[in-house]
Amino acid sequence: MSAQPINFVILGASGDLASRLLLPGLGTLLATNGDRHVRVIGVARSEKSDAEWQDLIRTVLGEQECGRAALQQVAESSRWVQVEDYGGAELAALLNDLDGPSVLYFALPPAATEQACEGLCGQDLPDDLVLALEKPFGNDLEGARRLNALVAELAPEERVFRVDHFLGKNTVLNVLGVRFANLLLETAWNADRIERIEIVADETLALEGRAGYYDNAGALIDMVQSHLLLVMSLVTMEEPARIATPELPDLMLHTLRSTHLWGDDPIEASKRARYIEGEVDGKRVPAYVDEEGVDADRNTETLAEVTLEVRNQRWAGVPILLRSGKALAEDRSTITVRFRPVRHLPEGLEGGCPENVLTIGMTPQRIALSLATNTDTQRLRLSTTELGAELGESPLRPYGEILGRIFDRDHLLSVRGDVAEECWRILEPVIEAWRSDRVPLEEYAAGAAI
Ligand code: NDP
Repeated sequence: MSAQPINFVILGASGDLASRLLLPGLGTLLATNGDRHVRVIGVARSEKSDAEWQDLIRTVLGEQECGRAALQQVAESSRWVQVEDYGGAELAALLNDLDGPSVLYFALPPAATEQACEGLCGQDLPDDLVLALEKPFGNDLEGARRLNALVAELAPEERVFRVDHFLGKNTVLNVLGVRFANLLLETAWNADRIERIEIVADETLALEGRAGYYDNAGALIDMVQSHLLLVMSLVTMEEPARIATPELPDLMLHTLRSTHLWGDDPIEASKRARYIEGEVDGKRVPAYVDEEGVDADRNTETLAEVTLEVRNQRWAGVPILLRSGKALAEDRSTITVRFRPVRHLPEGLEGGCPENVLTIGMTPQRIALSLATNTDTQRLRLSTTELGAELGESPLRPYGEILGRIFDRDHLLSVRGDVAEECWRILEPVIEAWRSDRVPLEEYAAGAAI
């Protein structure tokens, strides 16, 4: 066991993120690296006993095949703290009482995170306190700037980690290997060779009781604004000299600064829709507006689509579509790169020129390249052959990857403040157009294949 235990203090530990993603992620981290000594301090306004919290930790970590010794050590040293609110003197006192380094993880909706940060400003906090903030960072560009300014009052940037777990997915990191370690692709990675890029994250999950957060966010803010724009920046950025900081965030920022809505027109470049009653995997799903806690008048979308252009020498003229939807027919997160047709097809080759398409699957984890080949039966007729491979699952869940780096104070997978703000800047015109109802809210049946 490492000598110095880390206090992992989760604000909002009663929520969905903590039990469904953070604790399982921690479990995979401890299963692959049993040397870490972590105490999990759950903080919330809801009541829970230490024993209940420790039982939950035992169950969730046990499911991740975390070794017995590590599991016992984490569970026994963990505790639950009920607070009246998340900022202020009560929390500062708790942090100052803890022995060893602490990571304060804001697993709260964005408005509550901002309130908690406000409450902590002016409090005496431990000198080496690390802050970890969940996406979305703020509720809009102004909110992101405000939050960044508040956070800067609490800690210098080297002790601030903004979390977007998509950056912890091994298939997302795989984009870097695929792009920069293959001459064939590297030389073709530009507007001369690529016609169109699509980055899609569709899920079968409907609301699943998350109205409190989701009905205020919607698909654009929940998925496109952070997850998909960050993936896009990795797909389109220039080549880094090293996979390290500051190279990676510098180049992500560089490409995001060049990114604009297609045609600068939020109405033509965006689409929003909301699911009505339907069936997903044979199960009836009620209409989004009939889900508990949803306010139909908010017009929250459950599917968002935007088309962007990275206006630089490499990408100008290539539409880049980002889309995410809930309650759809399948779980499918993919990066699809469609290459241009050859300039000339020799006479005698029949059937038209099939498209070359590279697909990097985030879910399922798969890579495939489709090539034009002759068919077996008619030798001069072209068809498509797919070369594909399943990509190995990482033993670390995305949150395990991210938490390990936060505990080690490694910023590689953290979202830098200026990168977070730039993501909001790109989508501001869409958010405004949707708020003022200039883009119609379409409908789709739950379970639809789009
Ligand atoms: P929840 O809505 O479940 O909120 C977490 C906890 O925060 C609640 O249990 C509640 O605890 C407290 N809380 C909720 N609303 C308020 C409020 N208005 N003021 C103060 N406290 C409040 O959110 P999630 O756990 O789903 O998500 C937390 C953060 O993580 C969000 O920013 C979300 O974007 C992000 N995230 C979530 C993912 C997920 O799948 N859940 C995935 C990726 C990111 P109590 O009442 O006990 O104090």
